Amino acid sequence: MRERIPQRIDYHRYTEQGVILDGVMSLAESDKDLLRLNDAIIENTGGISYHLEFDTDILGNRFVTGHIDAHVVLQCQRCMDNYKLDLNCNISIAFVQNDFEQKQAEASNYDIYWISKKELFDPRVLIEDELLLALPQIPMHPDSEIGKDCDVRVNFLDGDLLVDGTVTEDDVLSSENTDSNITKSEQNDEDNPFAILKQLKK
Ligand SMILES: [Zn+2]
Repeated sequence: MRERIPQRIDYHRYTEQGVILDGVMSLAESDKDLLRLNDAIIENTGGISYHLEFDTDILGNRFVTGHIDAHVVLQCQRCMDNYKLDLNCNISIAFVQNDFEQKQAEASNYDIYWISKKELFDPRVLIEDELLLALPQIPMHPDSEIGKDCDVRVNFLDGDLLVDGTVTEDDVLSSENTDSNITKSEQNDEDNPFAILKQLKK
């Protein structure tokens, strides 16, 4: 049986001994243990693979390097359909417990992980943090999918705006009248925000 990822590790001992953690968190494990990640995504479609090498360097930095890979489903905020995204995180993180160690680690270009010396540390937290950082702030299909998988226009036309006919010429005119910020350049079709409605109606 495959060994499960440890839940409490002594980073001092791990970095001293050059321990390598290499494996896959199963879907069942991540569903149960990575609640913050689960909240941030629609679903996780496979195991989360990790390769974490603990070590020290000549300056005394205690660090972990490696990579974490996951496959998740997100909801595109442009067309509201779900889409798949591979998350591939390379990590290079130093454990620090005071300002001196922090400055030294930053000078060596490590990311920083604050920890107290005796604190046992859960590598699943690090894995989850890294995956959360790798998520896009606004999930969207890549631009290359616009008009294909990411069909914004179809969704727009399906929306109430046009189907219900709630936008009329009068609405457009009255909104133009009430909007004191409209300048002359915005009056031409190209810059008029309602010009796109005309195009879509064709
Ligand atoms: Zn989309």
